[in-house]
Amino acid sequence: MVKKKLKISFYSFTSCEGCMMNILIWLYKNFDFFKDNFEINKMKLLTPKTSKKKDDIAIIEGAISSQEQERKVKEIREKTKIVVAIGTCAITGAPSNNRNFLKKDEEIVKYIKKYNQLEKVKSVKEVIKVDYEVTGCPVITEEFNNIINNLVTHYA
Ligand code: SF4
Repeated sequence: MVKKKLKISFYSFTSCEGCMMNILIWLYKNFDFFKDNFEINKMKLLTPKTSKKKDDIAIIEGAISSQEQERKVKEIREKTKIVVAIGTCAITGAPSNNRNFLKKDEEIVKYIKKYNQLEKVKSVKEVIKVDYEVTGCPVITEEFNNIINNLVTHYA
């Protein structure tokens, strides 16, 4: 019997993208396992192409800081079976949410409206349901490895 490959996408929102760099290192070390079990729909750092296929799994890095990002992450949730938030930006909003703690009269505050930013930067789970979280800043690859193996065991 041919094993089903899970369709996976990687998304970055407001972040330094350091978590995704760690995931790339993990991919490099686990490439044979990964290619046997997954098909990439979207990953900006690896390929500019984006497949229109629905995702089984979405890996999300970064906090949600604009109305456009809020719309996009809701769209991802609708078309994806399993959402995994990676790194503290995605899980708690920090450190990308530093501006939440600025005083109302700080110079930067006027740009929040001008550029359609949300009044407060949010974690991913403040906007959509998240199924799994992988902690760390940057994300801890051993934890990511455990979750990915768990997903292959249960869903592939
Ligand atoms: S959690 Fe840390 S390493 Fe990951 S994207 Fe946010 S700031 Fe960068």
